[in-house]
Amino acid sequence: MSRPYIVAGPCSVESTQQLGEVVQALSRVPQVALVRCGVWKPRTHPGGFEGMGEQALQWIAEVRKGFPSLRFGCEVARPEHVELAVQYGMDAVWIGARTTANPFMVQEVTEAMRGSGLEVLVKNAPSPDVQLWMGAVERCRQVGIEDVVAVHRGFDVFKNGGYRNNPLWEVPIELRRHEPGLPLLCDPSHIAGRREPVKMLAQTAMDLGFDGLMVEVHPCPKAALTDAEQQITPADLVELIGGLVVRQTDSSVADEQLHLLREQIDLLDSQLLQTLAARFGVAQEIAEVKERGNLAVYQPKRWESLLQQRRESAVELGMDPDFVKEFFEKIHAESVRVQERRLNQMNENSHS
Ligand code: PEP
Ligand code: MN
Repeated sequence: MSRPYIVAGPCSVESTQQLGEVVQALSRVPQVALVRCGVWKPRTHPGGFEGMGEQALQWIAEVRKGFPSLRFGCEVARPEHVELAVQYGMDAVWIGARTTANPFMVQEVTEAMRGSGLEVLVKNAPSPDVQLWMGAVERCRQVGIEDVVAVHRGFDVFKNGGYRNNPLWEVPIELRRHEPGLPLLCDPSHIAGRREPVKMLAQTAMDLGFDGLMVEVHPCPKAALTDAEQQITPADLVELIGGLVVRQTDSSVADEQLHLLREQIDLLDSQLLQTLAARFGVAQEIAEVKERGNLAVYQPKRWESLLQQRRESAVELGMDPDFVKEFFEKIHAESVRVQERRLNQMNENSHS
């Protein structure tokens, strides 16, 4: 796979004119390896535009005649979609987020792909569950698909961090740890939900060593029937690609300076862990004191003021106070568990 591998095209195919226009424009962008065309659209609520279905496949087959070197792909969510995609000569298909969440459906859809020679892109499930994502990839391989590509489109979680889908970069990083050879793309459009952050997210993906991007591109985004807020124009795509800094992922070429910096990181991490271990040791002693004073493990006032102080220190140290808050929430939760364990031990000992 040549990096960056760019998949671009409209959220949905809407008309021959819209498709013709966008394909014409994308054919002039050499990095575009695959044109994404939404044919069937999964909609959260009924009554919205659900895609043109087979009609769109007919238009794609017609339009592509003028662009023999371009490759095309669409989402498939049912075995019949796969059969139609193959019948109309699509080169690739993708398994959408909502399908990846359902292993029964992934099984049925991938069975229909057997022997098709399709390239298959697998989007992450809406929940941050790396196992579901890996499971769908495995199901593709099980039916003999050789070209499997993962697509990170963010996660629908309680705190979305201002995005439509929170990127939670640690999840695709975890996927990469398990599957180092699996090509990994980022879909900044569905993460952002708005045009403006798309470029910045695309660069973050490159900085993290992703292999490419899946970007929604529409000739007239504001008039789009689906995802009008997040689609960008072909000209925006050209600008985005032109400004992209593609990072080298082979760390064997890392220079001496990088090596030394990593040694520093390792050292700091080990100090961090030792400090944490010492902190949990103190928490155990606190449990003993609380037991003697018959005090509850969780003391809301103390916790509130601690959090406030840590946030203030974070700002003084030039760190994001929200990050530091989340960090301490995790530590506090573990500290409560450690104290509970110590109390239980003490209770058992006093009864034995
Ligand atoms: C899409 O790519 O058009 C789409 C519906 O995405 P997702 O499955 O990531 O929501
Ligand atoms: Mn979309």
